Amino acid sequence: MKLPVLCLAACAALFAQTNTDWHRAFPPFRIAGNLYYVGTADLAVYLVQTPQGNIPINSDFKEDVPLIKNSIEQLGFRYADTKILLISHAHGDHDEATGVIVKDTGAKLMVMAQDIPEEQSTAAGRPGAHVDRALKDGDVVELGGSKLVAHLTPGHTKGCTTWTMQLRNGDRTLNAVIVGSPNVNPGYILVGNRDYPGIADDYVKTFAVLKSLPCDLFLGAHGAYFGLAAKYERMKAGAANPFIDPDGYKAYVAEREDTFRKEWERQKHYPGSTAK
Ligand SMILES: [Zn+2]
Repeated sequence: MKLPVLCLAACAALFAQTNTDWHRAFPPFRIAGNLYYVGTADLAVYLVQTPQGNIPINSDFKEDVPLIKNSIEQLGFRYADTKILLISHAHGDHDEATGVIVKDTGAKLMVMAQDIPEEQSTAAGRPGAHVDRALKDGDVVELGGSKLVAHLTPGHTKGCTTWTMQLRNGDRTLNAVIVGSPNVNPGYILVGNRDYPGIADDYVKTFAVLKSLPCDLFLGAHGAYFGLAAKYERMKAGAANPFIDPDGYKAYVAEREDTFRKEWERQKHYPGSTAK
């Protein structure tokens, strides 16, 4: 039986992470170049704005769509110009509304191959959205002169994706990294996981990938990963772009890897235990 374990992990994760910031509006703003923030106070949605239309990364939950739409329009862009829709990974806080956005706008949904079964699933909390393009590690998504690279960073989900892109900002080219998720959620089984036997090795690979990516702009699927609110306040106060934070990125990845490795060791010593 595959479903119960997956459901247990996903549901435990949802309850544990329920957060008042999830559905709270956040001011939309330009991060750098043609990359904008249009998500909620914690559920990040990025908008790559191009002359040929826009690419949002993540849809959040269905109830968040009006907030996202409003943010896009407050920036002077059109929700109807959504041409391609991407996700960080197939968990409801990032993808529940993909089907809604595709239906509203006719955008093409592109998802890492390993997350497609979850994306197309019509089970409770799943978007049941048709995927137009299956992505593999290193694939490039291109629109209107912008290029996004899909990096497979599995473990958190089998197809968890870290997106990178280069942005022109004044006379500088900035490397943006949008971390998919390096987190071991409550209920996750790292040792003897029958539904995902390679899960721990996948996390190991993910940390190697994250450490190899050049990063100026440190971003991720949740605002909490990179201190969205505090950095936004500093930006508003006129500071040099606080999202340019290569040291913060390195420290974050190192801390997350340490947390993963400790949990992995713990589960090796207590077989049958799950992450808390
Ligand atoms: Zn997740």
